[in-house]
Amino acid sequence: MSRIRLYIDHPLLAGQAVPLDGAQAHYLSGVMRLRPGDALSVFNGRDGEWAAVLTDAGKRGGSVLPDRQSAPQQDPPDLWLIFAPIKKARTDFIVEKAAEMGAARIQPVTTAHTNSERIRQDRLQAHAVEAAEQCGGTFVPPVADLVSLAQLLGGWDANRRILWADEARAGPAETLSGLPQGPWAILIGPEGGFSATERANLSRLPFVTPVSLGPRILRADTAAVAALALWQSALGDWR
Ligand code: SAH
Repeated sequence: MSRIRLYIDHPLLAGQAVPLDGAQAHYLSGVMRLRPGDALSVFNGRDGEWAAVLTDAGKRGGSVLPDRQSAPQQDPPDLWLIFAPIKKARTDFIVEKAAEMGAARIQPVTTAHTNSERIRQDRLQAHAVEAAEQCGGTFVPPVADLVSLAQLLGGWDANRRILWADEARAGPAETLSGLPQGPWAILIGPEGGFSATERANLSRLPFVTPVSLGPRILRADTAAVAALALWQSALGDWR
């Protein structure tokens, strides 16, 4: 029996009613058919998962009453995903999968060959929330605003290493097990790949490690999931 899980951006304490906005109340009563008195799980991204009861759900809002913590807070490893937005549905997919795979932060970037110059940050953030609700997570990765890759690298903290999925290395996949622990970011390019200038710049940076994701050229959305799996199994919380 899987309980309905709802993300609420509000402190969670036993016996302290938490307000629902109209959309949340509608989701619980209109879509999921919960009635006052029914049980659900709530989480806020910081305080673990809580067993709660729906106390009120109307047109304009409602409330839930957290009872006790049912699971501890579980944060992902310190891994960011940097990617160049592609078509809308595929960008949504990348954000959803990054949240499921345990990325701690999602950073869209524009690159020389980026297909899309605009994102809807709020919509992408909502996808990350939905993914966390659905996969049993207690953490929601923040989706940052779009910046250019050059700008991002210009202000980069050299303590965070970058695993650069470099299509030019397509071939036998590297093993990552020798790489150091610590903060990392994965970098995935757009459908057009990286430009010669970007490639030259990335190759010069001491904190960047280029990797192959196998012998086939993957679409950017597939590449993101593959790189996250590779990193999580070598250095992350799949070990
Ligand atoms: N148009 C490019 C491919 C881009 S694929 C070309 O034909 O060469 C989109 C992104 O996915 C790439 O920029 C890279 O970050 C990643 N990627 C896809 N396949 C890869 C592979 N086999 N090895 C490493 N990175 C890969």
